[in-house]
Amino acid sequence: MSAPVNRIVIVGAGHGGTQAALSLRQLGFEGEIIMIGREVEPTYERHPLSREYFAGDKPFEHLYIRPQEFWEDRRVTLKLDVWVVRVDVQRRAVGLDNGEAITFDALVWAAGGKQIPSAQSLPNEYRGPHSRSVKPPREDRT
Ligand SMILES: Cc1cc2nc3c(=O)[nH]c(=O)nc-3n(C[C@H](O)[C@H](O)[C@H](O)COP(=O)(O)OP(=O)(O)OC[C@H]3O[C@@H](n4cnc5c(N)ncnc54)[C@H](O)[C@@H]3O)c2cc1C
Repeated sequence: MSAPVNRIVIVGAGHGGTQAALSLRQLGFEGEIIMIGREVEPTYERHPLSREYFAGDKPFEHLYIRPQEFWEDRRVTLKLDVWVVRVDVQRRAVGLDNGEAITFDALVWAAGGKQIPSAQSLPNEYRGPHSRSVKPPREDRT
């Protein structure tokens, strides 16, 4: 029999982490949710950054995916401006860069991703089999 899930920790407070928290509540999860992000601001929309915020057409507060009170109402604890530097699977805990450790019953990893540079964009010395596309060019496929 699986152990009860009382506390879910979400690492990443971007669109992915936010949607995970929203969906958990929508699906009726009543336990504790802690969402951790390294940015200072609560979760915000990325795409209007360049077109509206930097152009001066929208204040930053209008970019929040949900206002601060929303997360309080839904009992989602935001822990912002901290890095998760360690995941201890045995103890079921994440370690933060401020020395704090937070235990979890379930962990959602929603920390985004980085673009992998294409082989063409790498300097010559880094090009090789390890940096080739997974799919060969069409004429080489069988
Ligand atoms: C300027 C801009 C414009 C964009 N425009 C569009 C668009 O028009 N259409 C579109 O579809 N997409 C657009 N995107 C992309 C879109 O915003 C991303 O695809 C989306 O934000 C990815 O969400 P995510 O939650 O997976 O990752 P992220 O948004 O990267 O969120 C990951 C979060 O995890 C946190 N994190 C990572 N590692 C750790 C750690 N170790 N400890 C604690 N926290 C951590 C980060 O601080 C971050 O908050 C745009 C992005 C930008 C920057």
